[in-house]
Amino acid sequence: MIVLVNPNLVVQRNDPFTTGIVYMPIGLAYTAAVLREKGLPLKVIDAFAENPYQTERKASFLILGLKSEEVIARLPQNTVAVWIYGINLTSHIATLNLVSTIKLAYPKIPVIVLENTQAVTAYSLSDVADAFFAAGADACLTGESELRAVELAQLCLSGEWGRVSEIHLDGLCLPNKKNVATGYVGDLDLLPYPAWDLFPIENYWNLCFSHGPLSARRYLPLLTSRGCPYTCRFCVAPQTNHQRWRPRSAQNIVLEMERAAKTYGVYEFHIEDLNPTVSEARIRELCHLIIQRQLKVAWKIAAGTKIETIKNLDTLDLMAAAGCRYISISPESGSSRVLRLMGKFFDFEHAVRAVRRMNKLGISSQACFVLGFPGEENGDREQTLKMVREMTREGVDEIALFIITPVPGSAIFSEFSGYGSLSELNFTPSWRKDYQKLNRFRVRLYLLFLIWKLRWHPKKLFQQPFRFLRKCFHTKMEMVPYRAMVFKRLDNRAARR
Ligand code: SF4
Repeated sequence: MIVLVNPNLVVQRNDPFTTGIVYMPIGLAYTAAVLREKGLPLKVIDAFAENPYQTERKASFLILGLKSEEVIARLPQNTVAVWIYGINLTSHIATLNLVSTIKLAYPKIPVIVLENTQAVTAYSLSDVADAFFAAGADACLTGESELRAVELAQLCLSGEWGRVSEIHLDGLCLPNKKNVATGYVGDLDLLPYPAWDLFPIENYWNLCFSHGPLSARRYLPLLTSRGCPYTCRFCVAPQTNHQRWRPRSAQNIVLEMERAAKTYGVYEFHIEDLNPTVSEARIRELCHLIIQRQLKVAWKIAAGTKIETIKNLDTLDLMAAAGCRYISISPESGSSRVLRLMGKFFDFEHAVRAVRRMNKLGISSQACFVLGFPGEENGDREQTLKMVREMTREGVDEIALFIITPVPGSAIFSEFSGYGSLSELNFTPSWRKDYQKLNRFRVRLYLLFLIWKLRWHPKKLFQQPFRFLRKCFHTKMEMVPYRAMVFKRLDNRAARR
């Protein structure tokens, strides 16, 4: 049997606001579905969600979920391989810990780490494979796992793992041989839907917080497309997707929504694509289909999209009519000089028009910015401040301010040093020499945002405490204090033990 493991959630104790974001492991759920479709024996262990409130302090981190010995106790006797999902960078210490403890308990069972190619919070495993090998991993599988899962599983199940270095498996990194991942899942519609029935999804729902703002009792993430055509230098996606964007058809997405409603009673969907609106025609078709089939669903573009790809603002009207309730966009910086350094463009005028329209339509909007990109100066940050002010006046519902961190696989990865664990590569990189200065600016800008919002959109601000109390979140800014409160309580409880 192949055992698929989702690692524990890791929270940086000094920052429960931007760390500890809960992502349902959609890539692993796809891999499980592919193996099951081929009739291959598998079991899923979700080391976080099987006991999400169990907490352990580890230096500056909180580790949530099963203890390593509990994971080991859940491995069936007929386990032939353990595949651990490299879900995101901040969970790295938990992933590494699982690798080493499983290997110690079962030295003969191959332990393989799978890359997550569809999240900007993930990391390129080929850049960090040696750290996993040092911990005892036998291999890292890079690229889309679904493409290689069956061949890899058959190799493990046949008892022929010892021959692995003699064969070529695209994307498989071994200590002495690295095969580059070259292929992609060509037709995403041919993939089975994620096997959520193998995961403790009730436990995710019971948390009452998620990555996207959660306003229903139940939700599921969706990947409606894969890849991204852009080349932002701070992002891992250009390395893991080689600028290829591939869509699922509107029909296929709607069928998944209908199935989720029927099977799990889910009517809220969080779109976790890297860039779901690259094809405006496809989004329009999706909206038409949802409306035609009278699906009473809410969907949120939780992981962001490039707003310039929605060229026709009437598309936003259609999206609202089809249940779109939230769109995250990424101006990143108010300075065109810094945007050039980032390899990113942003059409401010277009974004402002889009935010105004979203405001009218009742679609909540988020604008994300990154601070501290190499080469950024004080004057650049002042331009970011001005842009935030303008966007707040136009009605943007929330902002997110991240301090740039070097993600393995991004173009800027080698430009930074000074961190200890890779898990410290989060949006509060306190190891950076300029962290205090950047963080002071961040806190100031958040405060200014609230003041500006109070001045120009007081009604919106006053609604937030009520939504917070009802745990019916329209924005991440309403939800994140709740999540931070939960983490604080867990941290205190862990300290008392
Ligand atoms: S637009 Fe830029 S930041 Fe967003 S996924 Fe694409 S490359 Fe990454």
